[in-house]
Amino acid sequence: MSGLDGFLGNKKLIARLARDIAAGRFAHAYIIEGAEGCGKRTLAKLICSAISCTSEDKPCMECIRCDKIARAQSPDVVTVEADKDRVQLGVDVIRRLREDAVFAPNELPRKFYIIPRSDTMNVQAQNALLKILEEPPSHVMFLLLCENADDLLPTIRSRAPVLRVEALPDDVIRDYLKTHDERAKALSERDKEAFHAAIKLSHGSLGMAMRLTDEKNAAECLEYYKKAERYMELLADRRNAANELAFYEYATKLTNSKGRDELAKIYSLLADAARDLVNVKLTREPQPIFYTSPEKAREAADKFALGKLIRLTEIFCEALDSLDHNVNVSLSQVRTASAAAAAGRAK
Ligand SMILES: [Zn+2]
Repeated sequence: MSGLDGFLGNKKLIARLARDIAAGRFAHAYIIEGAEGCGKRTLAKLICSAISCTSEDKPCMECIRCDKIARAQSPDVVTVEADKDRVQLGVDVIRRLREDAVFAPNELPRKFYIIPRSDTMNVQAQNALLKILEEPPSHVMFLLLCENADDLLPTIRSRAPVLRVEALPDDVIRDYLKTHDERAKALSERDKEAFHAAIKLSHGSLGMAMRLTDEKNAAECLEYYKKAERYMELLADRRNAANELAFYEYATKLTNSKGRDELAKIYSLLADAARDLVNVKLTREPQPIFYTSPEKAREAADKFALGKLIRLTEIFCEALDSLDHNVNVSLSQVRTASAAAAAGRAK
């Protein structure tokens, strides 16, 4: 088994890469796109290893070259980052890279430049990089990592194929953590709900899941999860004016004015919850993603009519979207609560 097979999920992408590597067919630059913590750096290093490996089954992860790359000890695998105290990756950094790139590699067949936050390159830096992408020395390869390739100039994108790392299904992450991560495994045994909440909020990113399953983060995830759960309960249970008021009180005070991130997490969970309930109504064997069992989901779904649940899914997605567009946090809670109440009146 080659090291590429060890990369979780993303089977099509890996098969394509393996084919290209076996045929010696690769570009001088790739854009590796995907959410935070999805394994972009791991994939970039695997590509370096696959091209450099001396064994038959590339990358073997055992030969001296593979080993040095994995331990970040190879002089020919260069990580390019912004200068200290700078958020943006400036043109100076890229100029230095260009000067360095003319020299042949020391020990590997190529010299690899990995740019982990390539979307932080300012326009001058991207234009400077473009110059070398247009006529790259034959011995170099660039790996540009970013969350969204659209944040790079179209001229860069046209010279580097995009490799998109997709989110992993929750069960793949769950199984991986339970077998490879002692801390996460301990959490899964000690506090099932917190473990579930942390996985949910990782949105298919293994790196994120590893981070969120530590004690402090897991407690926070659980708190958001409980808030979403309570929101749905109060939303369903509005038999009289007092209950109606209780819902508003709760739904408009989920977080304070600085809690944009927290609110976004709660909205994303609410959208998952509403989607679960739609699925319960429409499918015979639902596999809920928010609710921890089909029974719990069914019990919650019984309190809503289907049309209202579909509308709720839209409302929570729109709320999440508007938070991305800098809507005021308090206002967002009021608007979303009103819209949800109008749509979600229990049947
Ligand atoms: Zn090797």
